[in-house]
Amino acid sequence: MSFTQHEISGVVFRTAGGLRAAGGVAHAFSTRIGGVSGGMWASLNLGVTRGDDPAAVEENYRRIRAAMGGDAAGPLVKTSQVHGAHIRAVTRDTPILGLHDREPEADGLVTDLPGVTLAIYSADCIPVLLYDPVRRCVAAAHAGWRGTAAAIAARAAERMMADYGCRPGDIRAAIGPGIGPCCFETHEEVPAAMEAAYGAAAAPYLAPLPGGKFKVDLKGLNALALRQAGVEAAHIEVDGECTMCLPEKYWSHRRLGDRRGSMAALIQLL
Ligand SMILES: [Zn+2]
Repeated sequence: MSFTQHEISGVVFRTAGGLRAAGGVAHAFSTRIGGVSGGMWASLNLGVTRGDDPAAVEENYRRIRAAMGGDAAGPLVKTSQVHGAHIRAVTRDTPILGLHDREPEADGLVTDLPGVTLAIYSADCIPVLLYDPVRRCVAAAHAGWRGTAAAIAARAAERMMADYGCRPGDIRAAIGPGIGPCCFETHEEVPAAMEAAYGAAAAPYLAPLPGGKFKVDLKGLNALALRQAGVEAAHIEVDGECTMCLPEKYWSHRRLGDRRGSMAALIQLL
């Protein structure tokens, strides 16, 4: 299984083969390509807090949701991301807010409600989508280095087990486009945090560089977090595309700072 790139009505996005093969779910990892925003948000900006024209962001969501498939008009739930590890469950009692309303703080979402689209944002941070085709539930998580050190991917899988009775062996995981070890160079606080979280198992994902810096493989560490939560290695797919290496296709926070739009990872139980 591997990632596939799609272009539907000009919208370029990626999907994971394992989630597609399992059936019963729609999902997408967006790129910059196929929207209507201009300037530094060109063109498929899905970030609602980045200063872009709200009407353009709405049109961009309409486009990516139509391209993704599923119910493109159903409820959309996002979060106010804070680089933590809190996972918010979306239930029948969850208020469905407007696209530009401020959502509660969390870095992950889970639901077992068909037709509800969960969305998280990223621009270098690692987007993680989870799906259990047996217990019929989904999760989306945003993992920057702090979220990775807090094992947010594992927290999301564990929340699916706790709330919906998922067995870890049934969970399918897709780790989408994000900054790769080619570009994620850090000081020692990052590898130290990973060693504190994962112990010696983190070592293969932390490469020391001359001069005291490190290269850190955040996607590999998120896959490790999922395996430690019991998700089978064969059910974890990792997109090799690095958001910093491909500036025409992705926004990179490392490259651009706050002068940028955001990609999103979306998932909906059908
Ligand atoms: Zn790179």
